[in-house]
Amino acid sequence: MPRPIQARISHAALAHNLSVARRHAGEAFVWAVIKANAYGHGIGRGVAAFAAADGLAMLDLNEAVRCREAGWVKPILLLEGIFEAADLDVVERYGLSMTVHCAQQIDLLAARRLLRPVDVYLKMNSGMNRLGFKAEDYRAAWTRLRALPQVGAITLMTHFADADVAGGTDSARALFARTTQGLPGPRALANSAALLGVPEAIGDAVRPGIMLYGSSPFADRTAASLDLQPGMHLFSEIIGVQDLQPGDTVGYGSTFRAEAPMRIGIVACGYADGYPRHCGTGTPIAVAGQRTRTIGRVSMDMLAVDLTALPQTGIGSPVELWGTQVSIDEVAKAAGTIGYELMCAVAPRVPMVSVD
Ligand SMILES: *Cc1c(COP(=O)(O)O)cnc(C)c1O
Repeated sequence: MPRPIQARISHAALAHNLSVARRHAGEAFVWAVIKANAYGHGIGRGVAAFAAADGLAMLDLNEAVRCREAGWVKPILLLEGIFEAADLDVVERYGLSMTVHCAQQIDLLAARRLLRPVDVYLKMNSGMNRLGFKAEDYRAAWTRLRALPQVGAITLMTHFADADVAGGTDSARALFARTTQGLPGPRALANSAALLGVPEAIGDAVRPGIMLYGSSPFADRTAASLDLQPGMHLFSEIIGVQDLQPGDTVGYGSTFRAEAPMRIGIVACGYADGYPRHCGTGTPIAVAGQRTRTIGRVSMDMLAVDLTALPQTGIGSPVELWGTQVSIDEVAKAAGTIGYELMCAVAPRVPMVSVD
């Protein structure tokens, strides 16, 4: 028998979250972002669960091909565009749309004959300083692209660095509006945080990612308060029980010391499964449907939980590491990170199954 750990993916929850995005997007085109293996949920599941999206967006060309092979016929957008000339073969063959964020990508397009024009998202760097043309270079890039027969529709795009804080997009939006003034074409700005929090940024096309998986893009708002449902439930079981006396310690480094008699359970889940080692004592976790806390350091394959107040539990009791009773955002916070990282980091050794 394999270890009892399992990640369960709810297609119904993913589809529900897409409907929430759609509700906020109004008439805008909705790209479901499924990069990084659909934020760890599996590309195939993303294709199936987000069937109602207008398009799928990702970075990896192999993931784009997998979407086509899984039967996706609607648009696909490469969020970082192409990396080398040969990628244009894939773009052409699979009918992909691509971001253009630098002059080298325009050079690659210009050097190449295409049987049909490719739709382009022209990216402006609005202050994040990651990818995109600087505002002063943006219009020249547009003019150059527009003159290429290889290029079809051009959408004007940027990506916000601070969409999750109030007022965080103000200067970026102003710069984008100034820079693109008078240029024809749809506008595409919003990730999840902007879609949920900045109605002025919705424009003509939106790119929600994290919200589709049921995690909140905001530090101060829960996913439930945004009507989002967890797409992933990480489950395991208690595989050992220890009774502790005052002074007994738990785990590597003996970082936890019992002050009173306690009962703890050992869960078949550790950092080699993707559960963060940075989660210290007190991280929320649910055993047999009741919330309790982790105890001591997370080991490679195991972690400890406090069962003192749960006398009916024991070996074989079900454990929810994250999901409905404990949100992935709570665990992420305990580890000093964000839900994105946890869902992307579930280890390949954890069996992943689809439910509903
Ligand atoms: C990842 C990504 C998104 C989605 O961001 P979320 O915060 O997950 O909603 C949107 N646009 C671009 C360019 C991205 O790279």
